[in-house]
Amino acid sequence: MGQDNFTHTVRCKTCRTRFKVQLFESHAKNLFLVDKRDWYCDKCKKTYANNQTAKLSQAHQAIGFPELTGTRKMITWAEKIRAELINKVKYLKESLRIEDADEQEISSQAFDQFFDEWRQETAAKWWIDNRKMTVRDISQRVETLAAAIRKPTD
Ligand SMILES: [Zn+2]
Repeated sequence: MGQDNFTHTVRCKTCRTRFKVQLFESHAKNLFLVDKRDWYCDKCKKTYANNQTAKLSQAHQAIGFPELTGTRKMITWAEKIRAELINKVKYLKESLRIEDADEQEISSQAFDQFFDEWRQETAAKWWIDNRKMTVRDISQRVETLAAAIRKPTD
């Protein structure tokens, strides 16, 4: 069997360039692969990723999050993580049901402080290192900040 038996030729959906993809050992997986229509070559994938990163970066700057520093590859990854983590905070904030007006104000301040802490994190590496942060982790930090607002050290 020649090398070609292990590859399948596809066409990039964006630039129509033909390129080969590696076939799997499993027949079922290959059927799926042969049926797949949306292929993108490495060049178009890279352009797409760069555009997505630029969009995320702009969206984050619009809400006061600075540009990240690091290698291009790290920034691409970190911007995605940052978007996911910010969504987790928003989800948490929206899911809280606080009846008491004073507590509501404290909670709101705590979330502001929490976001301010994240605004200081400009290294792509920090976001990558913290990619596994859960809603629970975020909730604990916000609660710590809220506790400090309730009992000011004076
Ligand atoms: Zn292409």
